[in-house]
Amino acid sequence: MILSGCHLRRLVHGSSTRRAAGITIALMSPSGRHFLQIPGPTNTPDRVLRATARPTIDHRGPEFAALGHDVLDGLKRIFRTSQPVVIFPASGSGAWEAALVNTLSPGDAVLAFDIGEFARGWAEVARRLGLAVETMPGNWRRGVDPGALEARLADDREHRIRAVLVVHNETSTGVTSRLPDVRRAIDRASHPALLLVDAVSSAGSIDLRHDEWGLDVTLSGSQKGLMLPPGLSFNAVSEKALAASRSARLPRSYWSWEQMISINPTGFFPYTPATNLLFGLREALAMLAEEGLDEVFARHRRLASAARAAVRGWGLEIQCEQEDEESPVVTTVVMPEGHSGDRVRTIARERFNMSLGAGLGKLKDRVFRIGHLGDFNELMLMGTLCGVEMGLTLAGVPITRGGVERALEALTEEKQRAQAECARPEP
Ligand code: PLP
Repeated sequence: MILSGCHLRRLVHGSSTRRAAGITIALMSPSGRHFLQIPGPTNTPDRVLRATARPTIDHRGPEFAALGHDVLDGLKRIFRTSQPVVIFPASGSGAWEAALVNTLSPGDAVLAFDIGEFARGWAEVARRLGLAVETMPGNWRRGVDPGALEARLADDREHRIRAVLVVHNETSTGVTSRLPDVRRAIDRASHPALLLVDAVSSAGSIDLRHDEWGLDVTLSGSQKGLMLPPGLSFNAVSEKALAASRSARLPRSYWSWEQMISINPTGFFPYTPATNLLFGLREALAMLAEEGLDEVFARHRRLASAARAAVRGWGLEIQCEQEDEESPVVTTVVMPEGHSGDRVRTIARERFNMSLGAGLGKLKDRVFRIGHLGDFNELMLMGTLCGVEMGLTLAGVPITRGGVERALEALTEEKQRAQAECARPEP
């Protein structure tokens, strides 16, 4: 007997019947592309995939140096910096550790903010490394409060706090902290703490200015706005951070900036780099440059605004409660009491071949997340929102039908405005 569809689903989930004799499970591969709508890893463009599918080259040979120069220069444009950007063969967590071990010493006090699961994760890494972490409270619906930060730093008259840890875009909540205001808060308190910024889900998708905003370490990863598979991470380093690294005493070897920064100007790396990911990175950087970074940011804002219109159209709540902190890359949808975010995600995956982001930490099952970043456009967003609306309905979540229409209206109005703008005669 061959089983498929709902019979197959029932069988696969029921372990007792799975072993039944004489039954063939017809494992179907779903047609069309999988919709990877988690907030990273994001969809890798074909151009980037093709660029990585090349024979690996000698990482000490002359051809490699050109690649090294291209990616190191291109990254400076992403971080908007003229200072060094270090590339590690690692995920974002590696970049977290590198930022800390290069700038701090055992027992140093650092200030963190309880604004979401990734902010908590980074603080936990700092604790495990032997730093004295002080966490300012938060409700996971707002970003870093610049006023509270200024007051805390003004109180620290002996300047015991050596670094402030800020997650730019908190991927677990869909809330973006206002970095220029954070910088101003530190300056107003005349405090010398380093400003360490997690830009894992913002670099390449949200406006980010390492030099202009006075960030000391800006860290990121390859698998979100940079549209690559996971496996690369980055530290953009200010002069002040570099100076701190000369006296910092946390043990480091693999993560040390020193050798990287001394060898990188030749186009080479001190240990084996992830060569094929660097091929992909060169292509991704070219794509972002062709579109123009400002246009990339505007596209993310436009798509995010349409996603939020859909959620509000369904009569559901968004986790972020402050308009100027709404994330351009991920929308976190709050489930009505008694309904499960994980059930919506399971239905979306099984029925529509679409992955949505899970609720993390204390938001587990209470929310789900729609990722709308990286290589993403209007029609992909509409497909995603159709899948979400169908998933919510099938999960029995009480919604108002019409969220998809609200998003359509938002996107169409935006295009009409742009069209009218182009048609207007030049002054
Ligand atoms: N920081 C943020 C804001 C993230 O979104 C993530 C992962 O999604 C991380 C850090 C951790 O990065 P990784 O999972 O690549 O180690």
